[in-house]
Amino acid sequence: MQKVLNFVNGREVEPLSGEYFPTDDPAVGQPYALVPDSGEADLQSAVDAASRAFPVWRDLGGEGRGALLDNLAGLLQRHAEEFAQAECVDTGKPIHLCRTVDIYRSIANLREFADAARNFHGETFLKPNGEPATDSYTLRQPLGVVATISPWNLPLLLFTWKLAPALAAGNCVIAKPSEVTPMTASMIAQLSAEAGFPPGVLNVLHGKGVNIGATITKHPRIAAVSFTGGTVTGTEIYSHAARLLKKVSLELGGKNPTVVFDDADFDLAVEGAKNSAFTNQGQVCLCGSRILVQESIYNKFRDALVAKAVELKPADPLLDDTRFAATVSKPHMEKILGCMDIAKSEGGKLLAGGGRARVNGRCKDGYFLQPTLFEGLPSDCRTNQEEIFGPVATLIPFKTEEEAINIANCTTYGLSASIWSQDPERANRVAAQLDSGTVWLNCWNVRDLEVPFGGFKKSGVGREGKWRAMEFFTQEKTVTKLV
Ligand code: NDP
Repeated sequence: MQKVLNFVNGREVEPLSGEYFPTDDPAVGQPYALVPDSGEADLQSAVDAASRAFPVWRDLGGEGRGALLDNLAGLLQRHAEEFAQAECVDTGKPIHLCRTVDIYRSIANLREFADAARNFHGETFLKPNGEPATDSYTLRQPLGVVATISPWNLPLLLFTWKLAPALAAGNCVIAKPSEVTPMTASMIAQLSAEAGFPPGVLNVLHGKGVNIGATITKHPRIAAVSFTGGTVTGTEIYSHAARLLKKVSLELGGKNPTVVFDDADFDLAVEGAKNSAFTNQGQVCLCGSRILVQESIYNKFRDALVAKAVELKPADPLLDDTRFAATVSKPHMEKILGCMDIAKSEGGKLLAGGGRARVNGRCKDGYFLQPTLFEGLPSDCRTNQEEIFGPVATLIPFKTEEEAINIANCTTYGLSASIWSQDPERANRVAAQLDSGTVWLNCWNVRDLEVPFGGFKKSGVGREGKWRAMEFFTQEKTVTKLV
């Protein structure tokens, strides 16, 4: 069976314990690779390598670091199809999505932060009439050795989204991808050597979140942790980091509303609600899993959305025309099936799906679920409060704008929302009142990499996005003289 290896000090290495565990190809429901079960000794050797590399990397300057990030982007572009195939096998998501989102965006992440490396500067504060008169400037300096911890739903996309700013800002990195989807992180680590990154600048440790992940967050020489994942894990990381005063960025879960008013462009809104609920089998933190629809169009909208969900047939992720494929793992599939049972027991009326899907041929034992819709559930029940992170959404009718806002805001999460209305005043008025870090108007998941990104309430702490991430991965020094 294929073996994934750690990447420490510029080369692939076995975990020091020699221990591995298997990971599945979710579309076929069989193990296909072995993943290192890294521990404290692996981390120590990675931190030592990163600490040695730090002065060289820091002193290379923004131009030099930008050039290497561009080299890496170029290599990834050259190997894009190989990476898309690997991501597809590792995650079970459609190859079309791997090509057009995962790998495409990973290249864009590297290029965006290559530019940021060259153009991120401090500020000047000239006060010739001050008492006393001063001339000050700030330097944005890297933190040293930092860690990135990323989830399985967009493995390379989120891995590079954290790695690129950390490196651009002049830090050396210990990166931990999810144990469920280690493959493309391992492949890009190898490319980094070919791109010319000095040994020790990027180190990738594979293994279990509760072991190596937690160990990383407690290491005294790691100055910052940038984490994307679930709210429970994020809370634990925050508490470890607090004891060591580490800087922390947390991008966490969501229970996002899709709010459809009766003046919406009907077809656009139905298509938007479908994409928002079911893209990547509902395994995107930004997925709209609560679909709020104004009462006057509720029945027509529900019927149109159900028809779209039924059309979405689960299929082999490696086929070019597949748009809905497998969930990432057996435990995750079982968790989602459990959530469907909860929705039924809470009195939800099943409109579409509701169970496992069977795909013939090589995928007959794969972890496929049906796109699922419920209605008739109160907004305070578990199904409408807890993140499911699968292809399960609920329809909720509302009468007035005020009621829509109250329902949209009535969870502990606040990651994103979409509003569908052809009245720009209404759309902007409602956007201002939603407790969400991002609000899309008549679109969903449209991302400009420069704009701030993050969550309200239990959906996160801090902001990512081009300049916000560069701020996170640097510390500011003020230099003042009298004039
Ligand atoms: P988890 O929180 O389980 O895991 C995320 C990462 O943390 C993985 O690499 C995991 O490793 C690691 N990890 C797990 N436990 C610990 C620990 N105790 N200490 C340190 N690291 C740990 O999330 P999932 O991977 O299940 O991802 C799904 C979640 O991510 C959803 O809640 C989703 O909403 C959220 N998410 C948020 C995004 C955002 O931008 N706000 C974007 C994408 C996803 P391992 O996998 O090996 O256990």
